[in-house]
Amino acid sequence: MKVGTHIAAGACSGVGTALLLKSPMLGTLLLLLGGMVGALLPDIDHPQSWLGRRMRLISIPISMIFGHRGITHSLIALAGVFYLSVMCLSAESRYFGMWMPLALGLCVGYASHIVGDWLTPSGVPLLWPIKHRFRAPVTFFNGKFIEKIMMTGLWFGAGFLMAKSTGSF
Ligand SMILES: [Zn+2]
Repeated sequence: MKVGTHIAAGACSGVGTALLLKSPMLGTLLLLLGGMVGALLPDIDHPQSWLGRRMRLISIPISMIFGHRGITHSLIALAGVFYLSVMCLSAESRYFGMWMPLALGLCVGYASHIVGDWLTPSGVPLLWPIKHRFRAPVTFFNGKFIEKIMMTGLWFGAGFLMAKSTGSF
């Protein structure tokens, strides 16, 4: 799955969560930001990914130890991101409530990445260290034309949800 599609899915997830929680404007923006950033994180395990090229010092060792679509594409990593986000925020408990939407956004964005890759033929090792890769019964994200359509749809979806959550209509 391409980086643009992951970011669009992360945006959709973040704003969708804001809508579900009836989040105020600041919370919605933090969820949106968190969703887009969180959607980039799992591919830190690939030095040629968008994030990997920018953070080679972290990406190369993770890639060498775990390989691409290893631990970072598992439920254990998702739980770890949630735990670390909450721990970082609770260390600054004065800001805990204010920044919580950002932590939540990171988690839903991260989860959206795993779901997105689950929809590809390569699948994801959800139960890492068990190496079995889970994939959707119907996989269709393979970097071709349909992915461009999906990415456009996801951006429209994120825009629609944003308008809905801010009460624009
Ligand atoms: Zn990935």
